[in-house]
Amino acid sequence: MSITKSEILMNRDKQFPEDYTQEVSDNIDKLLILLNKFRDLYGIPMSVSSGWRPDTINKKIGGAKKSNHMKGLACDFVDKDGKLAEFALEMDKQGKLKELGLWLENPEKTKGWVHLDIKDRGDRKSNIFNP
Ligand SMILES: [Zn+2]
Repeated sequence: MSITKSEILMNRDKQFPEDYTQEVSDNIDKLLILLNKFRDLYGIPMSVSSGWRPDTINKKIGGAKKSNHMKGLACDFVDKDGKLAEFALEMDKQGKLKELGLWLENPEKTKGWVHLDIKDRGDRKSNIFNP
């Protein structure tokens, strides 16, 4: 089962239509393609814990000021047992994250969830970043 756009939008496109720009929509489309390639490699359903965040929502939950979630470039997934983080770390080791163009927030900083995004940080040895 694929990750869907509506899971990432969380109905916020209807709650905050003025924040839901063409750019945000295009970013989410691009993000989704890569997330689903990752998801296919994982082979296990992934459930979105936080997708697109309009400004109001991002402030309410105390997200980073220029969070990539606000631009539709990032998505968090539930990971209570750390299995998804383990897999994502392994994918980075194999160079698969770089191949896909996905970036992983250091799982040591995200206990209970996994953050993946498509913000370009240039050519690095590892696609794990620290916030
Ligand atoms: Zn995140």
